[in-house]
Amino acid sequence: MTELTGLSLAAARDALAKRHISAVELAKAHIAAIEAARALNCFVTETPDRALAMAAQSDARLKRGEAGPLEGIPLGIKDLYCTRGVKTTAGSRVLENFVPAYESTVTANLWRDGAVMLGKTNLDEFAMGSSNETSHFGPVLSPWRRRGANVKLVPGGSSGGSAAAVAARLCYGATATDTGGSIRQPAAFTGTVGVKPTYGRCSRWGIVAFASSLDQAGVLARNVRDAALLLRSMAGHDPKDATSVDRPVPDYAAAVGTSIKGKTIGIPKEYRLDAMPAEIDRLWNEGVVWLKAAGARIVEISLPHTRYALPAYYIVAPAEASSNLARYDGVRYGLRVPGKDVTELYENTRAAGFGKEVRRRIMIGTYVLSAGYYDAYYVRAQKIRTLIKRDFETVFAQGVDAILTPATPSAAFGLGEKGSADPVEMYLNDVFTVTVNMAGLPGIAVPAGVSSEGLPLALQLIGRAFDEETLFAIAAAIEQASGGMKLPERWW
Ligand code: GLN
Repeated sequence: MTELTGLSLAAARDALAKRHISAVELAKAHIAAIEAARALNCFVTETPDRALAMAAQSDARLKRGEAGPLEGIPLGIKDLYCTRGVKTTAGSRVLENFVPAYESTVTANLWRDGAVMLGKTNLDEFAMGSSNETSHFGPVLSPWRRRGANVKLVPGGSSGGSAAAVAARLCYGATATDTGGSIRQPAAFTGTVGVKPTYGRCSRWGIVAFASSLDQAGVLARNVRDAALLLRSMAGHDPKDATSVDRPVPDYAAAVGTSIKGKTIGIPKEYRLDAMPAEIDRLWNEGVVWLKAAGARIVEISLPHTRYALPAYYIVAPAEASSNLARYDGVRYGLRVPGKDVTELYENTRAAGFGKEVRRRIMIGTYVLSAGYYDAYYVRAQKIRTLIKRDFETVFAQGVDAILTPATPSAAFGLGEKGSADPVEMYLNDVFTVTVNMAGLPGIAVPAGVSSEGLPLALQLIGRAFDEETLFAIAAAIEQASGGMKLPERWW
């Protein structure tokens, strides 16, 4: 049984198509793996009954020769995606018992293509965090450990449950979301592949909103091809999301393994931070060597406004969050803590329903949007956002096809190690990823090596808008050169 969970998504798909295995068998193997891995706390809600029912339907379709592209493939769903009839918490107490009456477009697309839901994965509360420690349902533990040590490590965040579940072989892939790095940073920490597509590529409809101009749905998987297969099913235009874009969805998997000869890859000098550990620098240089060997042309580029991206993100994202989260007032959704009048009901509900980090973001957001500070903070951050976007447009206009950077400034850290005294320490995790969201571009994190302590390290590729295919091609070249991901040894 455990062997089935170790297959790649693509291999499982082939075995299903040839009817060497059944979807029900696959679902059972994963349900057992999830039950045996509860110590990792990857899932907020397990849905084994639904998984078995969906798998039985998949088997019937496979038998009739009517299989969809993901027929019978068991997946984890970040608990930020609304799933009809299945609790959707956003990692928050305020939505602890919220059961949506509708299905998000992205998950509906996956079910249309035959995928099977194993459950809802844990995350930072409202996707605010970089370590999965802000979840109301407790932290997720990474399946990885430092060599020779048993210190508990974070899986990254906010899509920590999805990333840990994929790395621990609890599902072949998982949905995730990325507002400032929440797909790419946990991918880097867990040795998985994380794709944040172009803003507008996937529908945001039915995904609990954090910062609507930055949020984008995406994928965590065990290799580049699997990620490409999943994104193809998830992406597409949706009339219910006015920001989703009406463009055909390419066959991303077809780009995997294609030559990258003659591609121009930019190395932005501003991403070489002073305090960066030597092993991250080494990894980056190694990436350059691999891509050169694969026939790419490497050029140094400048993205001069990079250093303003993180501070500007931590104004724009909280501003939008403070507005989006105003809806949790105890009247329409989720938790209600009564008071003597409606004002007190709001206050009691929100004080009890939101955790510390979410309250901090709401307060920052409200402050930067308030009369008197709006121009000084919010408007200025928006101007910086435009300049960041322009930096990218300039280098792409000069013929750069993609940009190579590290994905994170370090390997995974220990539980409780960062951010308790100073939240900025945690925010610094996003230094290489937020620029991509600010510019609305696609980004992919691909495992590329291991740290001195034996932990996964990743490189990031940033592409032109709607050119995910080039990213898949280059990421596959890195994957091949680095020897691909090694799975963590099972200790749980
Ligand atoms: N870590 C970043 C934050 O806390 C990004 C989160 C995300 O992408 N959802 O805002």
